[in-house]
Amino acid sequence: MPHEVRGVVAAKKGAPVEVQTIVVPDPGPGEVLVTVQASGVCHTDLHYREGAVSDDFPFLLGHEAAGTVEAVGTDVGGLAPGDYVVIAWRAPCGTCRSCLRGRPWYCFDSRNAAQPMTLLDGTPLSAALGIGAFAEKTLVAAGQAVKVDPAARPEAAGLIGCGVMAGYGAAVNTGNVGRGDTVAVIGCGGVGCAAIAGASLAGARRVIAVDIDDKKLDGATRFGATHTVNSRGTDPVEAVRGLTGGFGVDVAIDAVGVPETYKQAFYMRDHAGVLVQVGVPDPAMAVELPLIDLFSRGGALKSSWYGDCLPTRDFPLLVDQYLSRRLDLGAFVTEKIALAEVEEAFARMQRGEVLRSVVVL
Ligand SMILES: [Zn+2]
Ligand SMILES: [Zn+2]
Repeated sequence: MPHEVRGVVAAKKGAPVEVQTIVVPDPGPGEVLVTVQASGVCHTDLHYREGAVSDDFPFLLGHEAAGTVEAVGTDVGGLAPGDYVVIAWRAPCGTCRSCLRGRPWYCFDSRNAAQPMTLLDGTPLSAALGIGAFAEKTLVAAGQAVKVDPAARPEAAGLIGCGVMAGYGAAVNTGNVGRGDTVAVIGCGGVGCAAIAGASLAGARRVIAVDIDDKKLDGATRFGATHTVNSRGTDPVEAVRGLTGGFGVDVAIDAVGVPETYKQAFYMRDHAGVLVQVGVPDPAMAVELPLIDLFSRGGALKSSWYGDCLPTRDFPLLVDQYLSRRLDLGAFVTEKIALAEVEEAFARMQRGEVLRSVVVL
């Protein structure tokens, strides 16, 4: 029998989001029904509301969640009612050209639930990133529900589902930060701080946090930043060189995603250093760099999508690091809110007042 539950819906472009009654079907083949316990408010949810992702309104927002499996479809193995899961927006298909080459983190055909969730009048909802977790229950593909240690508090564990994984993975998976590396991270919001935590756990010798907000820089030191640079009054490229013997860093991570920070990351690298872009740019943005600098400085310019993560490999690891007090996921949770408070949380996020607001159900 379908379930009528409350969910946060973006009805049309730019309009404030509202809590509405939505209809969630029972799981069909390959699907699982999840009772959501917590779901973080991410910039991407706001991008959906603003029509910046697609025009497929109405959207059911929320995509950074932990919860409990309530029911599984007929052919679903490895998951049972009561399992504690973090929901992923990447569920590798196993059969596309990337999966077949052993690179499932680049899967081109990631799985989602086949049945739509709907409004009461039957209008199908587009679930944000194929999840839709600002709801009491949500329907996802079985591969999206990744079992983790149930000892982890849901408001902390859920953050692994998007922002924390994106930042951590940008450092560890995409940037391949290793023991003895020097690292700079530009932008110390949730994703940037997760990159700092990842770099620190990977054994980086120096982790330099760059931001224009002293409060955020203070926060970055909680996650393992060894040095901070306020780039409002200082040239961050010169400052980072000054902190690395005049050379620059091995890995520079742009967690902002504007041309100015991209260029800063490009030039603050040591010779043959790696640039990782994880901040999501506006589609109208362009960057211009002298081709000779691209050539002569060597190294690699990479972008990181969801931290190049493999959820089944990485989610349980991050939860274990959290439970053993090496990764302070709790420090990302600025506030816990109700479903009805998502719109206000968007405003606080835009003003840069929070690392994460987390809806707790
Ligand atoms: Zn997100
Ligand atoms: Zn695939």
